[in-house]
Amino acid sequence: MPELPEVETVRRGIESRVVGRRISHVEVGRERSVRRVGKEAVIHGLLGATLVSARRRGKYILCDLDTGEQLMIHLRMSGRVLVEKAGTKRPPHTHVVLTLAERDGVIEEMWFVDPRTFGEVVVFDPAHTAEVLPELARLGVDPIVDEFNADVLARALRGRRGALKPLLLNQHVVAGIGNIYADEILHLAGLRWNRTVDSLSRKKINELATHISEVLTQAIEAGGSTLQDTQYVDIEGNVGSFQENHRVYGREGQGCITCGKVSIRRVIVAGRSTSYCPRCQK
Ligand SMILES: [Zn+2]
Repeated sequence: MPELPEVETVRRGIESRVVGRRISHVEVGRERSVRRVGKEAVIHGLLGATLVSARRRGKYILCDLDTGEQLMIHLRMSGRVLVEKAGTKRPPHTHVVLTLAERDGVIEEMWFVDPRTFGEVVVFDPAHTAEVLPELARLGVDPIVDEFNADVLARALRGRRGALKPLLLNQHVVAGIGNIYADEILHLAGLRWNRTVDSLSRKKINELATHISEVLTQAIEAGGSTLQDTQYVDIEGNVGSFQENHRVYGREGQGCITCGKVSIRRVIVAGRSTSYCPRCQK
């Protein structure tokens, strides 16, 4: 599932390839992809509009349109955004196509491709954000676009209880972190997935905040992580390379790179896999 670094990479692609361009045609094939507001609202809202910005909060991509409306794209499990020349053979599961008006003699299309169809394309009036996308208001701090440091993290964790990993995955606490980066961050911070939040010293919270910022920043620089079982690619169709830096995720049974003493273990907690080093993480 794309997490903050992958979504940020897609956002940057939209910013460089799509922002400033007028949408001259809209096709919606699979209505499930536009279920939140419906096909008519998406077509009507995008046709003739120009994207003026591409922002991100957590895993939500938010584009301002010159009409005053906004376009929201959420990739969820398997969504991809691709830009190709018009006439290029579209991949299976291309559910929404925005034709971008001709520029330098070339007509391009932005595709929303989503095999598992959990992803969403929404067009809405920002005055109605609370009704259309109520979850946006409840999103926690975004470690990249918001001010983020140990004080901010300590505040986000204050009053919370229970194991650390579910809290990192909780989008209302910190926005954008998913299973891969939670495991990598906890490993570097030397914290086990089931460590309780109220047992953390201030020094540990400081370290955790540092690793959240560093892991996410490095992963963005690497274009995100592309794993065998995921189809994540950027807007040009390129895979990310941060998986080469993974220390625990996907390394079950292999030696720990950090301590060199024991093998990485994997457990299933609440249906999700967790990889950790039993020696480095306490
Ligand atoms: Zn280790």
